[in-house]
Amino acid sequence: MAGEALTELAVRRGFFFGANGAYGGTAGFYTFGPQGAALKRNLEEAWRDRFTRQEGNREIEAPTVMPEAVFEASGHLDGFDDMLVACPECGASHRADHLVEDATDIEDAEAMGAEAVGTLIADHDITCPACGTPLAGEPVEDFNLMFTTDIGPGDSQPGYLRPETAQGIFVEFPRLKEYARGTLPFGITQIGPAYRNEISPRGGLLRLREFTQAELEQFIDPETDEPPLERVENVAVRLYPADEQAADDGTYHETTIGEAVTDGVIGSPWVGYYLGVAQEWYERVGVDPDRFRFRQHLAGERAHYAADCWDAESEVDGDWIEIAGFAYRGDYDLSKHDEYGDDAFTVFKRYDEPKTVERATVDPDMSVLGPEFGGDAAAVADALEALAGRDPGAFDGETVSVEIGDEETGDPRTVAVDADVANFSVEEVTESGEHITPHVVEPSFGVGRTVQTLLAHAYREDEVDGEARTYLSLDPAVAPQDAAVFPLVTNDERLTELADEVADDLRAAGLAVAYDDSGSIGRRYRRQDEVGTPFCVTVDRDGIEGDGPDTVTLRERDSAAQVRIPVAELADELTALREGEPFASVADRYDAVDTDVETAGN
Ligand code: AMP
Repeated sequence: MAGEALTELAVRRGFFFGANGAYGGTAGFYTFGPQGAALKRNLEEAWRDRFTRQEGNREIEAPTVMPEAVFEASGHLDGFDDMLVACPECGASHRADHLVEDATDIEDAEAMGAEAVGTLIADHDITCPACGTPLAGEPVEDFNLMFTTDIGPGDSQPGYLRPETAQGIFVEFPRLKEYARGTLPFGITQIGPAYRNEISPRGGLLRLREFTQAELEQFIDPETDEPPLERVENVAVRLYPADEQAADDGTYHETTIGEAVTDGVIGSPWVGYYLGVAQEWYERVGVDPDRFRFRQHLAGERAHYAADCWDAESEVDGDWIEIAGFAYRGDYDLSKHDEYGDDAFTVFKRYDEPKTVERATVDPDMSVLGPEFGGDAAAVADALEALAGRDPGAFDGETVSVEIGDEETGDPRTVAVDADVANFSVEEVTESGEHITPHVVEPSFGVGRTVQTLLAHAYREDEVDGEARTYLSLDPAVAPQDAAVFPLVTNDERLTELADEVADDLRAAGLAVAYDDSGSIGRRYRRQDEVGTPFCVTVDRDGIEGDGPDTVTLRERDSAAQVRIPVAELADELTALREGEPFASVADRYDAVDTDVETAGN
């Protein structure tokens, strides 16, 4: 199967492998080998280019350890849980909702709640995947996914490894808005590790305990800011809306971003805009559009604050996996930090014209309130002030009633105050603007899951010259190497020296170049094909004029087609190929090499 073969290739060729193998391995942690790290880095760079640079956004780098107060405010401390069921026999822990999904047609068991999941485990006689013991009647518990740590020695304070990069952006909003000169809209991005103590990590890079996210927080004024939708309105997308998922004969909407936003299939134009940008970007880096869709969250699946949420999903080994989420988060995050934090998480929105408004105020006579209410007098004055803003009509009668917390017990009690003592009045004031809490639109990408998708979608098997070959048809923009350089034969010292020089010159021009002079030329091509190197350069005696190589052959991976190209033009051509120029148009400019050794198979 492609899946197993790919996992084997990933380990053998240095893409990724389970970490800490010498110590028995640690589930949920993977090390990227040299090929994988290069692929991941190129992918992150492509993301940075599209979502940061081209959007005019700005990137930050926040710490990965954050204090408890942040997660009290964000809601992660209370609500960032998965459903755990433990086997009474072998002690293995399992995601209870996943066991139910595996055993039934239910697609989102998490949304059903722990009790219903417990009942389903019993109803379907679900057993422990590790040892086969029935799990009926075992408690289904909420398990918080955050890793804890201590910040500092001694009376240390609890710290948490961030479960998403987003919080590092939200908590710094008071400063970040200054850098944006207090003007909406603006976007902040961050690429970095996030940590979740997953109950049962699985599927290679798909469910890890430490993984990399690339996130964008787009801060907007919901009343006035519009996305540049015209840039992506014609982008074709395959949508799987919630109502289609619920219907028995539900189908995809093959549509465009413009139509989907106009028809209201995508509720938020900002979410629509980023779905369009993401569709183009995924195609650019090599995701197969036929194995890709945007799926809307079902109502029960959506985080409570998310008004509309879509996942980008790719098909890997027959399963659809979530590789990114696009959520309209409203003012949830900034309001929470405004409430819990010490700084202001708002921006000042200046009106086009100053506005004259009526403002109700009170000026309570403290010489009366003091003797009457003692230590509660200040609380009474505050309550009157709040009431004036909220309900000016309450001051129409002879007395006004307000509720305060009792000074000693803290219990609420209602007190009456003479309207005269409150000194209520309505004044006209001129306001130049107001403080608003921005709304947030968040595209959140999993980098590892995208790497796994790219490898799965690039994996090919064919035959060249009657010999089976495996290759990765990775896009030159993300492939670990831009090119590999070989001497045609390895027993010719002059040739190996010259090939070495060619490799060095290409490296000096900023290209990532492998050099290989071991084994037959066919074997060397296969090695590079298997790690997805898009171009191989071979230095041979035919190309040597005078002191150095005048021309070399350039071979394209997928077609195995070759051209003879002057060395002087090689770096520029390879750079253009990396940036997206098709090989066919480069090949047009040079003589094809008729190879009986290398011809593409099907
Ligand atoms: P979420 O905040 O859960 O929507 O996650 C955002 C993105 O991070 C997802 O779309 C995934 O691509 C990725 N992601 C979430 N959890 C994991 C995990 N345990 N391992 C790898 N990637 C993950």
